[in-house]
This record gives sequence, structure tokens and C-alpha cells, in this order.
Amino acid sequence: MSTLTKTEGEKAPTGPDSFLSVRDLRVRFSTEDGIVKAVDGLSFDVERGKTLGIVGESGSGKSVTNLTVLGLHNPKTTTVEGEILLDGQDLVTTPEKELEKLRGNKVAMIFQDPLTALSPYYTVGRQIAEPFMKHTGASKKEARERAIEMLTKVGIPQPKTRVDDYPHQFSGGMRQRAMIAMALVCDPDLLIADEPTTALDVTVQAQILDLLKDLQQEFGSAIIFITHDLGVISDMADDLLVMYSGRAVERGSVREVLREPRHPYTWGLLSSMPRLGGSTSQPLTPIPGSPPSLLNPPSGCPFHPRCTFTDKVSGDRCSTERPALGTGRAAACHLTAEQKQTIFIDKIQPRLR
Ligand code: SF4
Repeated sequence: MSTLTKTEGEKAPTGPDSFLSVRDLRVRFSTEDGIVKAVDGLSFDVERGKTLGIVGESGSGKSVTNLTVLGLHNPKTTTVEGEILLDGQDLVTTPEKELEKLRGNKVAMIFQDPLTALSPYYTVGRQIAEPFMKHTGASKKEARERAIEMLTKVGIPQPKTRVDDYPHQFSGGMRQRAMIAMALVCDPDLLIADEPTTALDVTVQAQILDLLKDLQQEFGSAIIFITHDLGVISDMADDLLVMYSGRAVERGSVREVLREPRHPYTWGLLSSMPRLGGSTSQPLTPIPGSPPSLLNPPSGCPFHPRCTFTDKVSGDRCSTERPALGTGRAAACHLTAEQKQTIFIDKIQPRLR
């Protein structure tokens, strides 16, 4: 495992290879009903050329975290605390004007739905060329050449003519490729992909994932890949962060977390999803209950109202004491290492066959 090595909440300097280092991030929204704790003390690192997968249910804080990294939150209603160190620069304290220079240039994002990210009024080529002109000072002609080059790289047929098409003239898969071209046009050092293949059919999904891997090799970008699909993550990520209720509950290399998960929430996620090649007689086991309210998060361990292992922990620790996430390969849970191993082997592993 090469990333995610610091203690949660620790204000540590970035490692030599850490391109993005998030420390004790807290994001709160003011709403009519009260304060929403969308992210509550989150720390992680991403190295250049590596992919960090972030998984969790809707409302776990994964998308908010990444919109905050990009500075795309509403400053009037959002409070951000902690550090987001991008190549040593703290984005939390960086003025909006400077953030604008970083967005689309050093950091770029691929959204789930290209129809909302691409404007219907401009040609695909213009939308790829504009950030290139803005950030590099290239001429219109040079930017058009670059747009054609990017469309070629992402596998759009006849790029010299399709460059003048509007988004509605592209298929869903082609629009997603065009958005990837737009995100990568300035060779960003960090690419954030938020559920980039959810809306696509399986074949196109596989093509887009292969494309992202190829482009990462070519551009050497660090990638944060957000998804609720653990099958996709096993194929894409080097390291994995499992989020629940705005916090990291488990982290490790993708291999470690998927082969030997240590947190009851990760067990729940794995037991509730179908596996390719898995037994068809083995029923899926959904996680009981629903995700917690971020207005009034549960006390102690946020997973305790849904957890089926609280009786294995002495006293009422699960409902009163917030478990810490240790260093390195870790799970934020009061169960002992031995209990986690025994429960996994006896109860969880058989469900995953
Ligand atoms: Fe379950 Fe308690 Fe562990 Fe939380 S700390 S995951 S409630 S056993």
C-alpha cells in the first residue's frame, strides 16, 4: 500500500510523493433545519500516478469531499475547516480567483452525467478548446487542433468533423468520452472522477474505464475515483477509502480491503452486492436500516444503529464512543483485531463465495 498512511485528523506535512493531502477536513452546510455535517474529520493522501477509490452510500460525504477539493461549494452556506494541500498549497485558504486558475488546469473533474456538464449551446470542440485557451494562452487555431487531438485520444471516430458537433449529436458513451477529453485537455495533475460510468451500459463502461487507465499512464495524473460499485473500484483503484456518515471508516490497498475487509459497514457493502462468478444460490444480504441523518448524526460510532455486532463490544461503547481510525491499514471500529478476523472468516467470507 502506498498512500493513506497518516492518522485521521493529524496535521502532518505531505509525504514526498503525496500530491493531494487532505487533513481533518470538516464541511458543514447551514440549512433551514440546522447544520448538516457533510464531512466530519476526514484525512487521506493521493500520490501522483495512483488512483484512490472512495466508496460509500449516497450521503456518505464522498461527492461533497471532492467538490470541496475543487472549491465548488457555496461559500455563503458552507463552512470548510482543515487542510486540503495540493502540491503543498492549502486550497482551503486559497482565494477563489486563484482556485479558478487551478480548476480545469491542475485539477479537473469528470461528472456522472455529461449532459449536465456539457453545454447544449456550444460545439463539443469549442467546449474542449476553451479551457485550453484560458489556461495556456493558445490561439483559437491551436486550441481547435488540440481539441481534435484530444477527441482522437479518447477514441471519437472522425474527430476532424465530429469536433463541430453539438453534444446532442453524440451518443451517451461519446459524450462521456468528450467530457474526459475536456477534463484532460490541460494535462491535469489530479483528476476527480465522480461515478463516471454509472449511466453507461456495461460494454461502454468497460471501454471508458480502460480509456481512463490508458490516459492515466500517458498523463501520469493522480485520480480520485468515486463510486458505489465495488466491482469497478477493484479494477480501477490502487487504494481504497470507505466512507460512512462523512467519515472514513476503513482504508487500505484495494486488494487488502476487498479481500479481508475489517469494518462491519464494509462487510455490509460487500455482502449486499452481486459478484461476478459468485454463487447464484447465495442470497444477497442488505444492510439493515438506512443511512444516518447528517443533521443529527448518531452518537459514538455512526454505524451503531445499523450494526449487527454491537453485542460483541463491551458496555455501550458503540453508542457513546467514536472509534478512531488508526494509521495505515485501518478500520474505525471497537471490535478487537481478533474479533474482526474471526467474524470475517466465520460469518462474512461464506457470504462472499
Ligand atoms: Fe459496529 Fe461498534 Fe464497530 Fe461501530 S464500533 S462498527 S457499532 S461494532
